[in-house]
Amino acid sequence: MTDNVYSTICPGCNFGCGLYIRENGKLEVDFRKSSPANAGKLCRFGMSLSRLYMPVKSIVDGKETSLEEAAKEAAKRISASKGSTAFLSFGNTTCEELLAFQKIAESYLCTGANFEALPKDAYQILSVGIPYSEIETAKHIVLFIDPYEQYPLIVRRLLSAKKKGAKITSVWWKDLPIAGENIRPADVSKLQLTKDSLVIADFHSLSDAEQVKNILSLVKNAGAKITFLKPFANSTGAYLLYKDAKQKSLAQLVEDINKGTIKTLFCLESDPSALIPSETLSKLTNLIVQTGQAVSAKANVVIAHEPLYKKKGTLVNNEGRAQALGGAGTSGLDALGIIAGAKFDFNVLHESVKKSIGIASVDEFTIPKYDRPAYGAIQAAAKPAEAKTALVSVHNPFMWFNLADDNDFVELNLNVVRTLKLLKGGTLKIKSNGSAIEKKFKVAPVQDNVLLAGRKFGIEKGILTSVEISR
Ligand code: SF4
Repeated sequence: MTDNVYSTICPGCNFGCGLYIRENGKLEVDFRKSSPANAGKLCRFGMSLSRLYMPVKSIVDGKETSLEEAAKEAAKRISASKGSTAFLSFGNTTCEELLAFQKIAESYLCTGANFEALPKDAYQILSVGIPYSEIETAKHIVLFIDPYEQYPLIVRRLLSAKKKGAKITSVWWKDLPIAGENIRPADVSKLQLTKDSLVIADFHSLSDAEQVKNILSLVKNAGAKITFLKPFANSTGAYLLYKDAKQKSLAQLVEDINKGTIKTLFCLESDPSALIPSETLSKLTNLIVQTGQAVSAKANVVIAHEPLYKKKGTLVNNEGRAQALGGAGTSGLDALGIIAGAKFDFNVLHESVKKSIGIASVDEFTIPKYDRPAYGAIQAAAKPAEAKTALVSVHNPFMWFNLADDNDFVELNLNVVRTLKLLKGGTLKIKSNGSAIEKKFKVAPVQDNVLLAGRKFGIEKGILTSVEISR
């Protein structure tokens, strides 16, 4: 048997790491050294892709069926639920599919990001970042992320900048070894930015709009630069393509499902259970998921097609670099065509994608020149910490994809260990809103009264969860 080898892009985040996937009975991941975003290096999520790409089958109400039948059934249910259907895609698929999706979803489109709460003139800066090579030449880098946990491939860019003399400051709940200066988020007023500073933050469905505004305002006042990293393979492509679309926020979607005004939810390559509470999802009459990988949501209709690495199409990474996915499959587009009642032509959509991005061809070695228009002054104030003790969820690729990870512990500092008289090798009780869990802990240079977790425990209420802790 000849192996099928795909030269493709990791879907774990919007960093855009290139790799090879080999099919030889099982999936094997191989390094692609020529990839400009990552020079062949991969984080542990990239190395675990065989777990993400578990086979998936088309299903209607628990019965296995074909893609065509599932798509036809989805079309029927969407049409019967006209006016109360929402369309959700976090941007984890090709630009071509996202354009087709927009044509279907015009009435209620959600990418998960809360653009409505943010200044319109900052949309472009939020959507597309700067080339990673500019990080390496920055004089002062300020991290509003934990690069090791959240976007691991950025670390080598930071190390390269540091080697060239860059000062690195972190604004985080834990001292980061790469940073020479560590500031706690509550003390952000101590941060000194200049026009030589480059701020690295991230922007996603769980971002707090006030905090994003505050960072934008600090950057604006200092004349500094900012780049936002994003968690889904094509978040940048989705935001660039949807810049003129009226998008609903995830919070609005959850509210509308809870109110009963949205009864059918159609999710494109997005597992809604990663971000929407199960009690909300259970209120839907129809949950329809179109996907190329196994999802944990209990959907009435699953339209299953090829996984992302087998698709034909374009992704755009954090830098704005357009990348070809490397496959030849278009069954995702075919399914969207059945739902739209009109066949989508890949080439027509591809031309529209290139036009929107402003490129003549998809060449991963050239980053298109994007406008980075200045945004106006922003009124924002740092949010005071609300919780006495907080569980902070450090969202990483495993969490975004609801994949189990081995770091089943929380990080806390020595003061907390001493105050609670925690025993070495013991556990910590964490209570939130009536739910209680017991977790192992690791001592780390974390802020007092903060627990950091790189895994979901089921008691979280967003990024920051107020908790009570005891031995
Ligand atoms: S940094 Fe992101 S894109 Fe790169 S290998 Fe890890 S998860 Fe994949």
